Amino acid sequence: MPSPAPSFQARSHDFAPYAPCHNWIAGQWTPAASGETLPVHNPRHGEVLGHVALSGPDDVARAVAAAKAALPGWKDTPLKERVQVLFRLKHLLERDLDELSWLVSHENGKVLPEARGDVLKGIECLEYGLSLENMAQGEQLDVSRGINCSTSHEPLGVCAGVVPFNFPVMVPLWMLPQALAAGNTFVLKPSELVPYGAMKLASLLQEAGLPDGVFNTVNGAQPAVEGLVDHPDVKAMAFVGSTRVARLLYARGAALGKRMLCLGGAKNHLLVAPDADPELTATTVVASAYGCAGQRCMAASLMIGVGDVQAIVDQIAAITRKLRLGEDMGPVISQAAVDRIHRYIDQAEQMGAKVLVDGRRVAAPGGRGHWVGPTILDHVRPDMPAGCEEIFGPVLSIVRARTLDEAIAIENASSYGNAASIFTTNGAVARHCLERFEAGMCGVNVGVPVPREPFGFGGWNDSLFGHGDLTGYDGFRFWTRPRKVTSRWSLSKDATWMS
Ligand code: NAD
Repeated sequence: MPSPAPSFQARSHDFAPYAPCHNWIAGQWTPAASGETLPVHNPRHGEVLGHVALSGPDDVARAVAAAKAALPGWKDTPLKERVQVLFRLKHLLERDLDELSWLVSHENGKVLPEARGDVLKGIECLEYGLSLENMAQGEQLDVSRGINCSTSHEPLGVCAGVVPFNFPVMVPLWMLPQALAAGNTFVLKPSELVPYGAMKLASLLQEAGLPDGVFNTVNGAQPAVEGLVDHPDVKAMAFVGSTRVARLLYARGAALGKRMLCLGGAKNHLLVAPDADPELTATTVVASAYGCAGQRCMAASLMIGVGDVQAIVDQIAAITRKLRLGEDMGPVISQAAVDRIHRYIDQAEQMGAKVLVDGRRVAAPGGRGHWVGPTILDHVRPDMPAGCEEIFGPVLSIVRARTLDEAIAIENASSYGNAASIFTTNGAVARHCLERFEAGMCGVNVGVPVPREPFGFGGWNDSLFGHGDLTGYDGFRFWTRPRKVTSRWSLSKDATWMS
């Protein structure tokens, strides 16, 4: 019997409570064995939107058992048939785009166009999975007379994914299309702060015809994640979240011999050369720093002004002051996030940075919720916490450098390596930077250099533990293992070195 998730009715920012979020196991909504739950807050209102299951080892065991039971049937389904489910899912995501966008906006706090972007980018990632039916044919070659070698891409088995709060629909769709198209079954641990996007995905996957047990969720926090990575039947895990957890989980899973790919946090550098186009640079830097209230792993959190870029800084400050809270920019995820962001601003100010635009004392739209206004810290030094640590909020730190190479050296010294961009009208300057940046995703005159599909997503250094990108063809490689077959079928008696 299909068990659809209840529809989310809100079509405005007015507070609307929502259903309990149970685990999704073998096609059924299943409360945590302990009966425990956590509250899920709507960050705009600071009110409890609903409750999510707080899972432990028994729940993990149930979800993994369901995924294991579904594996033989799904693995033996031809890839071209498996992909049909994903085609139908794309149609259903488009059908429910409004509902999903409002739901993401309510659970995460993003303003509606950003929430739509979350779903639409998720659909684009899904499209990559759909195309695998035309790209995953493997390779073959006659390597000798009558001898053929071929490679096919085999599923790994039961796989798992752990995702962060900032993109409730898109990040699960960085993993699911390739993992499911490849013939694996899956257990997802959504973020306990925003579990509803994944709840809707589970329901839509069932409506799209995915057999029960192929996709499951276990909700909750650290114990659910540790239970999953330690479970002997889980063969591979992808993680997206903070560097602290990415590093811990990678080590834990790798020590157990599992295939792990763990994407971590970021401190993204935007270098602005004096010859940069002022208007394009100012609007793009602002959009990058404050989109999703700065809670993007690709947000510009550090701008390095090279030489005299004062006119551009003034323009950035002028645009920033005009941003409307609640309309152009949403709240941050929690009160804990507000406190952390305030601490970074206070500390930078105490250490000598100039608070050019101050988001600490802002009027909260509606008088409640978790708000920090857009903030600019100028004359930050790279060794200040605001200059080298991930703040994950609407704070743009500006460091001043005398030369391009000094700016590049600051970027290179960061322990992270997700993104770096150069703003310039000079191709040689752009090339000089691109050849030297220590970042996996680089841009020229682009504030958020997220590669669009089919180009894979993944950083370097402390922004990614493991090998390869999570999306694109690397994603398919991550969720599969190559089988090499050498066969001899020949009527000829010719001897070859293999015979
Ligand atoms: P987080 O690391 O706190 O949580 C991510 C997931 O890990 C959640 O599902 C959470 O329940 C779980 N978790 C938390 N602590 C854990 C622990 N000790 N052991 C095991 N699991 C644990 O991250 P977040 O606050 O949800 O998300 C923000 C972070 O994610 C930022 O650092 C951001 O840069 C990063 N992020 C990175 C990317 C990327 O592509 N590199 C994309 C999105 C977000």
